[in-house]
Amino acid sequence: MATTHQIKERIAAFARELAAAMGEVDDSDAFSWLDAVETKAIEIGDAVSVELVRQKSTDRPATDAESTCPQCGKLGRYRNHRERELISRRGPVTIREAEYFCPCCRKAFFPADPRDRR
Ligand SMILES: [Zn+2]
Repeated sequence: MATTHQIKERIAAFARELAAAMGEVDDSDAFSWLDAVETKAIEIGDAVSVELVRQKSTDRPATDAESTCPQCGKLGRYRNHRERELISRRGPVTIREAEYFCPCCRKAFFPADPRDRR
């Protein structure tokens, strides 16, 4: 895994690449040139965040073969992964998550990460 310093260097290189690709920022509707640049930077940051969440959820390894059904408390079996749209703090994102099936309830369920309940 890359260190924080290495990630910062890669972000700096990526930002230079993006700045070159963007060319001049249109500041005709902005309070100032700096405001226009920051607005564009925020849009790009949001898009990078959403893409990172999407990719990390897609690359996440297979989970447990069984998981506890939130409705009846019995074990359900892993069935497959499915895509789900959710609204992240940075905008809509499609994630992939493990789907389990409870034979007692005859329903699919998607166990939450226990850390989400904190
Ligand atoms: Zn159940």
